[in-house]
Amino acid sequence: MSEIVLAGNPNTGKSSLFNILTGSYEYVGNWAGVTVEKKVGQLKAGKGQLIDLPGLYSLNPLSHDEEVASRFLLNESFDSILNVVDASQIERNLNLTLQLLEYGKPVVIALNMVDVAKQQGIEIDIERLSELLKTPVVPVVARSGKGCDVLLRMITGESSGNACEKTHMLSYGELLEKACTELTAKMPDHIVSPRWMAVQFLEGNSVVRAALEKVIDSKWLNQFYQSTEQSVMEAYGGKKLSQYIRNKRSDHIKEILAQCLTRTERRSNLSERIDRVVTNKYLGIPIFLMFMYLAFKLTFEWLGNPLSDLVDGFINGALRNGTEWLLNGVGATSFIKAIIFDGIFAGVGGVLVFVPQIFILFLIISFIEDSGYMARIASVMDRLMEAVGLNGKAFIPLIIGFGCNVPGIMAARTIEQPKERLLTIILSPLMSCSARLSVYSLFVGIFFKSNQALIVLSLYVMGIVIALLLAKLFSSTILKQQESMFVVELPPYRIPQWKTLARSTWEKGKGFVRKAGTFIFGGSVIIWLLSYAGPGGFDVPMNESFLAKIGGAIGYLLTPLGFGTWQAGAALITGFLAKEVVVSTMNIIYSAPDTAALQGLLAGHFTALQAYSFMAFILLYVPCLATVGVIRKETMSARWTWFSILYSLVIAYGISLAIVTVGRALGFH
Ligand code: GDP
Ligand code: MG
Repeated sequence: MSEIVLAGNPNTGKSSLFNILTGSYEYVGNWAGVTVEKKVGQLKAGKGQLIDLPGLYSLNPLSHDEEVASRFLLNESFDSILNVVDASQIERNLNLTLQLLEYGKPVVIALNMVDVAKQQGIEIDIERLSELLKTPVVPVVARSGKGCDVLLRMITGESSGNACEKTHMLSYGELLEKACTELTAKMPDHIVSPRWMAVQFLEGNSVVRAALEKVIDSKWLNQFYQSTEQSVMEAYGGKKLSQYIRNKRSDHIKEILAQCLTRTERRSNLSERIDRVVTNKYLGIPIFLMFMYLAFKLTFEWLGNPLSDLVDGFINGALRNGTEWLLNGVGATSFIKAIIFDGIFAGVGGVLVFVPQIFILFLIISFIEDSGYMARIASVMDRLMEAVGLNGKAFIPLIIGFGCNVPGIMAARTIEQPKERLLTIILSPLMSCSARLSVYSLFVGIFFKSNQALIVLSLYVMGIVIALLLAKLFSSTILKQQESMFVVELPPYRIPQWKTLARSTWEKGKGFVRKAGTFIFGGSVIIWLLSYAGPGGFDVPMNESFLAKIGGAIGYLLTPLGFGTWQAGAALITGFLAKEVVVSTMNIIYSAPDTAALQGLLAGHFTALQAYSFMAFILLYVPCLATVGVIRKETMSARWTWFSILYSLVIAYGISLAIVTVGRALGFH
């Protein structure tokens, strides 16, 4: 069975192609850096395995994911490479292609996005390109599957197409070729592709260098590198070795394209015209905020709330009555009934009620991603991000964090600079995730009925602003760093397909539903038990339960923030498990028959100002358990993990205090 590696620049359609060729589902998004780890899938009809690597611009690793790819090529065995090339960006894409060809394994090129290229007036002579590169080239549209059957036959060896015998080798000029020969002569026989290693070494590939140092004396290597660089500098007017190699490649690409690419003039395209507005220096951010505002309007007021009411009606109406009937029928004890209704129905049902809102928001985010607007947001934010020591690329993990902080933190792997990556990881938990949305939903429905969208937007923006301010603070104190360069790419706008949207919405939202069925289910039972039992025995008044005792201790500390009750304290402690649990706990504590009743009760326990302060605290106070786990895993440091927990507690306390203080001074209470 053959193993085929899928390699290509970010955002060229690798995952789309992977899904089509293997019939599986992988996250597809219209921006760079969506796939951060390699994925393996069976080719359709079981003819081999396809391995999806993270996107990479060059084999010379800059970022963590490029390193994954470099290491993979170096250490793993596979049979051939399927290189995805974006036809509309072919010039830049071929840079990687040349390096893959040099590697020496058979390469098939999937020339993707030919539809986009055509729209842009780019015409590619495929046969000529294949001849020049000495390797098969198959035009495809991975999004619709066009050409993919031909490609599948080609890579599984059923059709040889125009498979070529010789491999394409670019000559780097006499000087370098001599150096390569000298270096390859030193390499032991087991090295798979000596020339590729030599070129990569000279280009400065640190993974290759480390591999060579295992077999060749590192002093010699150092000296060899320096003397080669010296002679290149002398011969080519001070050019650095790595730069010389890159220039050679790009010159060669230009030569190739001159022979097989024609560009026809086109009208100024729609994408560009839209971009002039939405990435405008002054309008960019207001337009983005406007979009978010509309998104929340839709999520809460226009569409989400009515749907939520329906779900609420079903859970606390038909489902509750049905269950009651069933329990009475089997003669369940009142203890069992209490667990089920006061524990599970309150805890799990109280959270499930917000499923419609969450799915609507995810649908909108998926739309923003797949249409290409997300990349514009990153580019608009780039200026702001740079000012605080990050770059636009870091905004993408942050935005992913709106869904759930866990994948957001994982996505930080695409950031090259280790310190920027660390900074992004520890700030990601400040992004308001979907779990917190259920808390806001509950509270804005009570206290801010007429401007729900605005209040929720303010919390999201608060998270972003605090993250940016802290980025500035941390990057100028504990995380001093060199700045890195980043050019955000703007992919063309696309009308997203329903199928993709539905899938990616589901992928994002299913975690929420699953959590409700497992984690929150278990949590609700435990919390109910804690509210049922106390130091005085079972079935104690709620005020004397263990839950009240634990919550009371915390509640005391929270008094200055305006919500110093044991109920709030208990909700916050349990909320560390997962932030939806705050809602579950509230439901259990106030033992309300449905969401409307709970909202009625809460209205008596909080004022609007206290509610806002409480929501801000929920947003900021501590990353949830799963997030803490992933921070630990990604930073590989207990110290930074503790740091994330502690700084967020401090910030939450400070902000909530500021909110009530200022609020009171303004006459709210
Ligand atoms: P990856 O980053 O290389 O894995 O790329 P993805 O598979 O995530 O795709 C990036 C974006 O390009 C998505 O929005 C896809 O729907 C879109 N896309 C992929 N292939 C094509 C294609 O052939 N034509 C067009 N128009 N869009 C495509
Ligand atoms: Mg991908």
